[in-house]
Amino acid sequence: MERTGKIYGINGPVITIKGDVGFSMGEMVYAGEERLIGEVISLTKEFTTIQVYEETSGMKPGEIITGTGATLSVTLAPGILNNIFDGIERPLSEVAKVSGDFISRGFAVDSLDVHKEWDTTMVVKKGDKVYGGTIIAEVPETPAIIHKVMVPPGMDGYLVSVAADGKYTINDTLAVLQKADGTEVNLTMVQKWPIRRPRPSARRFPVSQPLVTGQRILDTLFPIAKGGTAAIPGGFGTGKTMTQHSIAKWSDADIIIYIGCGERGNEMTEVLEDFSKLIDPKSGNPLMDRTVLIANTSNMPVAAREASVYTGVTLAEYYRDMGYHVAIMADSTSRWAEALRELSGRLEEMPAEEGFPAYLASRLSAFYERAGMVQNLNGTEGSVSIIGAVSPQGGDFSEPVTQNTKRFVRCFWGLDKALAHERHFPAISWLSSYSEYLPDLASWYADHVGSDFIDNRNQLVSILTQESSLMEIVKLIGGDVLPDDQKLTLEIARVIRLGFLQQNAFHPEDTCVPLAKQKLMMETILYLYQKSKVLISMGMPMSVLKEDPIFDRVISIKFDVENNRLDKFDDYRKAIDKFYDDVIARNA
Ligand code: ADP
Repeated sequence: MERTGKIYGINGPVITIKGDVGFSMGEMVYAGEERLIGEVISLTKEFTTIQVYEETSGMKPGEIITGTGATLSVTLAPGILNNIFDGIERPLSEVAKVSGDFISRGFAVDSLDVHKEWDTTMVVKKGDKVYGGTIIAEVPETPAIIHKVMVPPGMDGYLVSVAADGKYTINDTLAVLQKADGTEVNLTMVQKWPIRRPRPSARRFPVSQPLVTGQRILDTLFPIAKGGTAAIPGGFGTGKTMTQHSIAKWSDADIIIYIGCGERGNEMTEVLEDFSKLIDPKSGNPLMDRTVLIANTSNMPVAAREASVYTGVTLAEYYRDMGYHVAIMADSTSRWAEALRELSGRLEEMPAEEGFPAYLASRLSAFYERAGMVQNLNGTEGSVSIIGAVSPQGGDFSEPVTQNTKRFVRCFWGLDKALAHERHFPAISWLSSYSEYLPDLASWYADHVGSDFIDNRNQLVSILTQESSLMEIVKLIGGDVLPDDQKLTLEIARVIRLGFLQQNAFHPEDTCVPLAKQKLMMETILYLYQKSKVLISMGMPMSVLKEDPIFDRVISIKFDVENNRLDKFDDYRKAIDKFYDDVIARNA
C-alpha cells in the first residue's frame, strides 16, 4: 500500500508532516507535485521530518509526500568513472544537456547510462556456487579500469544460467542465481547501496603500505598509508588544491574520487575543468578515465552537499570491493560541515560550538571510519584512503571542524600561510604536521626502499627541529655568535628545506619523485652533513666550508638529476669527498 503524508511545514530544505504516517528513518521519499527527492531524518509521535535534496521554493503545505520504501541509495554499475555527479549521484553532464545549466527540480535522470552496451566477458559458468562479492563478469569501463561485476553482498546460491560473452546494457540479465530456498534472482551489472551504510568486507587489515604520492614531504616525512586518513587544513591560497591535484595525478591509487564542495559556483566549475584536462602521467590518457567527480556548489541545495561525502565513499568502497586501491579527496570538508550547520539550524536543534551541531564529530567519524585496507568478500585486497581538505576561516586551526577532524585522521598536513607567502611550496609545515602511520609503515620502507630510510628520515626531522630552536636564538642575538657546529646545522637545514622539502609542481622532473630518488637525495644531504661535521670538529670554520659551492649543488640535485638517471648520485658523493679533501688541503 502506498504510504503518503501531507506537508505541514516547510523551512528551506526541511519539510515536516504532522504525525507518524508510517515512513521509516532514512527512507527516501518524493515530495510535492514535482516529486522532489527527500530523506526522512527524524521521526517523533508529533512530526515526521524530511530533508529535501532540491530547492523547495514554491512548495506549499498540503502537497503530498510519498514513501518509496527504500533508503537513499546510489546505483553501482559501469559508467561511474569519467563522470561528474551531484551529491546524490545525478550526472551533471546529462542533466545539463537536457535542462540547461544546473539540475532542474524533480528532474528524474538515471544515475548511469542505461542504453550504452558494454563489452562483457563472463568469468563464471552455469552450476558455479557464488557468494556476495563473487566476480561474475568483467567489463572494460575505461581504457584504464576493468570493471568487475559482482554478486551483491548478502546473497548466495548456484548459477542456473549464465549469458554468453557479448555486449550488454547495465540492466540486462547476465546470470540467474538460485538461492537455497529455490527462489531465483536475475543478476545484472547493477547494485543499489544505501549511502550511509558501509559496504561489508571479509576483514580489515592493519595498514602496512604507504600510498606513494611522489611528493617528498609526504612520502618521506609524513606518509599516509593505503587505507589511511589525512587532513590538509589551510587558508585560501596555501596550496590545498595543488596538493590534491598532485596526489590525484601521481599517487599509486588506482581510482580517484574527488568530492568538491565549493565556495562559489565558478570556483567549482574551474576545478571540474581543471580536472577534466589532467592527463594521467602513467598512461598518457585522460585522468578522468580513472576518476569520478562529485560536485556541489553553494547554489545547490545544502542537503545534497551533506549527502555528497557518503555518496563518494560508497562509490569508493564499491571499487575497493573489486580489488582496487581508491583515494578520496574531499575539498573542502569545511563547506560540508557548514551544510550540516545550516540543516541543524533549520531543525532548531541545540547548537554546540560555533553553531555546529553536537553530532558534527560523529558525522566526521562516520565518514573517515570508512577508510581502510581490507580483504574483500571475494578474497581480493583493496583499500579506501581518505584525504580531506579543511579550510578554516582565517587559517585558524582551533575552530571545531579542524579540531574534530584531527581526532579521526592519523595524518595531518598543516599548510602554513607564511610558507606560501615566501613561495615555499608545498607550503606544508614540517613543524606542525605529523603522521601516525610511521610505525606501521617502517617495515615496508625497510623492505622496499632501504633499511635505514626511516632512520635517515628521523635525522632530517631532527635537524629541522634543531633549526627551529636555533632560529629563536638567532632572532634575539644574531647568527654570528653561534658556534660553528650550530652554524652547520642551520646550513644543512637550509639544504633540506630548499633542496628536499620544496618541490615544484610545475617542473617536469620535480613534480613527482620516485622513492628511490627521495632516498638518495636524503642520503646525499646527510653524507654532506657527516663530512662537514668532521671538518668542523677538526677546527675548520663554517665560513671556510661555505666558500665551496657544494651546498648549493646539493640543493639543485632535484632539478639536475633526472628521475631515471640515479647513477648520477655517485658523482655527488665524489664531489662531497673532493670538497672534504680540498678544505683540508687549503687549510693544512
Ligand atoms: P588553495 O587551494 O589552498 O586556495 P592552491 O592550491 O590553488 O591554493 O595554490 C595557490 C597557488 O600556490 C598556486 O596557484 C601555485 O601558484 C602555488 N603552489 C601551490 N603548491 C605549489 C607547488 N607544489 N609548486 C608550485 N607552486 C605551488
